[in-house]
Amino acid sequence: MSSEPIIRRAPIRVLRDSVARKIAAGEVIDRPASAVRELLDNSLDAGSTEISLHITGGGIESIRVVDNGWGMSEEDLRLCWLPHATSKIESEEDLLRIHTLGFRGEALSSLANVSRLEILSKPIEEEIGHRLIVHGGQLISLTPQAAKPGTVVTVSDLFFAIPARRKFLKRPSTETNLCRSMFLEKALPFPDREFKLFIEGKLTHFLPISHLTERIAQVYPEETRQSSLHELSGSGTGFRFRIVTGSPEAYRKDRKHLQLYVNRRRIWDFSLLQGVEYAFSSYLPGGTFPICYLFLEIDPEWVDFNIHPAKKEARIRNTEDLRSRILEVLSSYLLSQGRASLRNLQLSGYSPVGDQASLWVGEGSETRPPTIPRGLPHSFGGKQGLAFNESADSILKQAASDQPPILPDAPFLYKGQVFGLFLLVEWNDTVFLVDQHAAHERFIYDELSRDNAPQPLLIPLEVSVDPEEEARLLENASKVRPLGVQLEKLRSGNWALTALPSAFRGAEEEVITLVKTQTGTLERIKQELFAQIACKKAIKDGEGISPLPAYEILRYVFSLDNPRCPHGRPLWVQISREELLRGVGRIL
Ligand code: ADP
Ligand code: MG
Repeated sequence: MSSEPIIRRAPIRVLRDSVARKIAAGEVIDRPASAVRELLDNSLDAGSTEISLHITGGGIESIRVVDNGWGMSEEDLRLCWLPHATSKIESEEDLLRIHTLGFRGEALSSLANVSRLEILSKPIEEEIGHRLIVHGGQLISLTPQAAKPGTVVTVSDLFFAIPARRKFLKRPSTETNLCRSMFLEKALPFPDREFKLFIEGKLTHFLPISHLTERIAQVYPEETRQSSLHELSGSGTGFRFRIVTGSPEAYRKDRKHLQLYVNRRRIWDFSLLQGVEYAFSSYLPGGTFPICYLFLEIDPEWVDFNIHPAKKEARIRNTEDLRSRILEVLSSYLLSQGRASLRNLQLSGYSPVGDQASLWVGEGSETRPPTIPRGLPHSFGGKQGLAFNESADSILKQAASDQPPILPDAPFLYKGQVFGLFLLVEWNDTVFLVDQHAAHERFIYDELSRDNAPQPLLIPLEVSVDPEEEARLLENASKVRPLGVQLEKLRSGNWALTALPSAFRGAEEEVITLVKTQTGTLERIKQELFAQIACKKAIKDGEGISPLPAYEILRYVFSLDNPRCPHGRPLWVQISREELLRGVGRIL
């Protein structure tokens, strides 16, 4: 990104107890890839412009990082492997404005304990370098040694002193792959630095200094080849962002290329990426995802990284503001791609006259249908109403008939579909254009909220998971039980979805993916899960709908106190007879 974080070189100190206690604790090094993450972060924090990573034997045998950063003095080397030794923060207040990737002073000390650690380093201004050797927490030596400016860290024989931990590692080839992914993830947001990866002594990746879009293409050549990448940008109070996105045609079946980086760290937060998905939702087939990389630069005082020991989460204060700016920028890009999206559709040829003539039901507007009788029949999702997720799915696929019947208990008249996007309704002296996808999404979302009775699956759905996903499953499986979702561990690395409520049927994959990746409270997991299922199952733009389900959806959404879709958007636009008459000059 254009502006460099302000990092100053400072001597290493051991943090005071009171500060150390404020740091989110947890296991920092659990496998070779996490050692790679920490070592690359250190090289980046040291201002290096050339970084090489060497992996041997899955990183279990050895990991070496060579950089040309500002190096460490003899005194720094003496301290660097002690717990809470860091040059990056000093006080509690510093935790509130973190400019560096590291700040805990834990990585080198963990590595020193669980491996044979060797660091050769020389600051540019010093005559001679020094070599530190620590094996399993025991200082072996610290001696002067000729060296180039910069640092070479070698971690060998990972977990040699902890055979139990070593047992949890996968085959070397798998660990190598995880190290490679970590390397690519680290290099991606730093196009202004050169990176090299050597596996078993062979250069496999060379990423020369370039621009952001070019760096993404270097990192993911296969995936981005088909799609021309576009770069967008935007800003707001305390933040700015860049988006590198593929066109809507280059969609994927998974979220692998939907990535978020906050101050150049990869963050696994669905809530901001949801804004991206939402912007794309009416351009993509259901269940598919865009290629989109989001790079946020947030004022360090607005974001807290001291949450997750593996640095995967951040707490951002102005998420709402951010989300709406991102949505705006992406929506206008998508619109400029020349494809109509239902949410950006403008009614043309009408210019409202007079102050109160408002055509659109804006955000926060309290406008509602005029005379909705309370107590409308809305036993939806229950045994009486249409069971949408099963029977209505097929009805939805049928084309709308020309003359919709008037249902006896509906106080409004459904007049048919418009543009394959809106349901047109006449009600007293107002016409409503109801966003069919958003309305159906809300209908399904609420039905999911009501159905938490687990129905056993005839054939449990088995999945294999990596250790990280497994850890998350262990944490989340009990959390999601109250939703009626049951996941069981078969053996290490193998889980099965055994039961889920009938309203969730057809979204089994989404359920598993979310439970194995999402973090946070039950409420957060629930919202994300329901929004995804609802979006997947809801009628899409351009799909026909027959009158019966249209009436069911309409009656339901008209009975809501807060008629918005799960993403918070209004469900309809309304125009009064008077506004129409004014529009054609019949009344003034
Ligand atoms: P943290 O990065 O959280 O400060 P680490 O244990 O990773 O903690 O590193 C301890 C200290 O060692 C860092 O604060 C930094 O001063 C120094 N250090 C580590 N790696 C390097 C490197 N490659 N170049 C220069 N200094 C380094
Ligand atoms: Mg570090």
